[in-house]
Amino acid sequence: MDVYLSPRQLEMRAEVRAFLDEHYPPDRILQMERDLEYPDDFYRECASRGWTGIPVPTEYGGSDGSVLDLCVFVEEVGKTSISMATLYITGTIFGSHALHICGSQEQAARYLPAIVTGDKRFALGMSEPGAGSDFAGMTTTAEKVEGGWRINGAKGPISGAERAETIITAARTGTFPDQPRQKGITLFLVDNPLPGLAFERREYLSMKALMVNDIAYDDVFVPDEAVLGDIDDGWLNLAKLMDPERLANAAQSIGVAQAAIDDAVAYARNREQYGGPISRYQAVSHPLAESQAEVAAARLLVYAAAHKRDVEGPCPMEASMAKMLANNVAGRATSNAMQVAGARGFEAESHFMRRNLEVRGCELGGGTSQIQRNIIAHHMGLR
Ligand SMILES: Cc1cc2nc3c(=O)[nH]c(=O)nc-3n(C[C@H](O)[C@H](O)[C@H](O)COP(=O)(O)OP(=O)(O)OC[C@H]3O[C@@H](n4cnc5c(N)ncnc54)[C@H](O)[C@@H]3O)c2cc1C
Repeated sequence: MDVYLSPRQLEMRAEVRAFLDEHYPPDRILQMERDLEYPDDFYRECASRGWTGIPVPTEYGGSDGSVLDLCVFVEEVGKTSISMATLYITGTIFGSHALHICGSQEQAARYLPAIVTGDKRFALGMSEPGAGSDFAGMTTTAEKVEGGWRINGAKGPISGAERAETIITAARTGTFPDQPRQKGITLFLVDNPLPGLAFERREYLSMKALMVNDIAYDDVFVPDEAVLGDIDDGWLNLAKLMDPERLANAAQSIGVAQAAIDDAVAYARNREQYGGPISRYQAVSHPLAESQAEVAAARLLVYAAAHKRDVEGPCPMEASMAKMLANNVAGRATSNAMQVAGARGFEAESHFMRRNLEVRGCELGGGTSQIQRNIIAHHMGLR
């Protein structure tokens, strides 16, 4: 089933697995989630092994990897921990792709080498309390002042924001009644900390170690050099950034699903009821068999979409199809796995429960499945 993967990608995947198995066994992940232990060591280790450089061009010290490389990487990390996989997606992938898509040479020179060394992690501030799916409804504003811009408003929920060194912030800089509502949005590189920038933690059921924040911007001043891309046209660049975000999201949820299935198979073979292992019951084995087939199919769609993005460029329809399918399949797989584990799967600190909740979070981030269906339907000419 590794039809799309090169020997180099398979080797990287094996290295990532060996590293995670050695340093982050399942009970360590539970402890990190319980104690809200930010995966700093994990990220530093990724940097020292060259993994934060995967999406960064070689001229800035990276390895100029593909979106498919990134999917293979986050899928493997997703098998271990969604906090870690999401930290990598926001910290590394958002920043490097945003700079690649619309950064100036000065911005690239300032930020990209620091992504490789692990010294600059990013977060992406699009959503707001009043503007989730409908991001064009955002009310955070940036007003032009002498030498820069003043940002006022609120963002949230934003993954990993309080520990990010830079928050890519989308803010309204103008209104254009005759144009789409998205027109008038500009992206800013907001370095953290800054006067006027404040964070509040949201209490979610997963991704506790990474932390998800609401951000308040109270007259936050950023210089002119902080503008990322064209003024008032940030939405065009955000749209391009969504492909890698959604593909990585899809890949991490496939990783979670595969780990849940593997655990459920082991559990079913060991758990004895009525004088033998429960795996001998078709009612136990078939849902897992079906989920395994669905996960394998979704994985191929993710790889195919990532390959298309690498070879042909933007692929919003394929990225949305991959995210919607992967998230849905992973939801079913983690739910089937929980059922196999009976009451143990329902315990607060069960890995089955953790994975089911992790996939719920994946489904919301990067646009819900309903929004992905809207995008797919739009590209099919249906709306
Ligand atoms: C764990 C987590 C991490 C996140 N990280 C980030 C981040 O790093 N950066 C960031 O910018 N955002 C982030 N988000 C926010 C995420 O992108 C939004 O939650 C998501 O886009 C949905 O917005 P909402 O929650 O406001 O729901 P709403 O937009 O209020 O939607 C509520 C429900 O209505 C449905 N709905 C809304 N509009 C339509 C429509 N037109 N057609 C069909 N159905 C519709 C939705 O699918 C959903 O089921 C994160 C969210 C979570 C849960």
